[in-house]
Amino acid sequence: MAYFCQQCGECCSVMGQVFSIIRQLDEFRFLFRNEYTGDTREVEVAPPLRRLFAESLIPAEWENPCPFLRRDQPLGLSFCTVHQTRPDVCREYQCWRVLVLDREGRRVARVMERRYLCLEDEGLRGKWEEFRESADGLEGEDWDRAVIGFFRGLGFRVCV
Ligand code: SF4
Ligand code: SF4
Repeated sequence: MAYFCQQCGECCSVMGQVFSIIRQLDEFRFLFRNEYTGDTREVEVAPPLRRLFAESLIPAEWENPCPFLRRDQPLGLSFCTVHQTRPDVCREYQCWRVLVLDREGRRVARVMERRYLCLEDEGLRGKWEEFRESADGLEGEDWDRAVIGFFRGLGFRVCV
């Protein structure tokens, strides 16, 4: 399955430490800098997202969000308001290799990097730890297959 973003906003909720606005060019155009690389980029808030950008509150749980991240509370989705002009590093980012969803489509777990599992349903922690120990000797695709089988065996949908 092709990668898709669930618009939870988690990844961008800490990107205030990476990106900052260094100049406002007009009402919706900004010069944006990556503080780690020094790269600058002109970004523009997309017309359909301008109202959201201007009016929506930043959720308290976002400790250090990118200045262009906004949450549409009624939709329950987060938006990069400069999506079309966002930096390359944002375009390349994918937060999972394997995505586990429950029947309602809620995220249960993600495999990130080579074999890091981000578990989002703490009720599965015990079963996962037991499985993880049993799969310790597996590598690469064998480990992936075992993880996929583990979650499918529990009745979850697994996207790879
Ligand atoms: S890339 Fe991942 S963490 Fe970031 S908004 Fe999309 S689903 Fe959430
Ligand atoms: S520019 Fe967009 S994708 Fe990049 S960190 Fe900011 S909100 Fe996220």
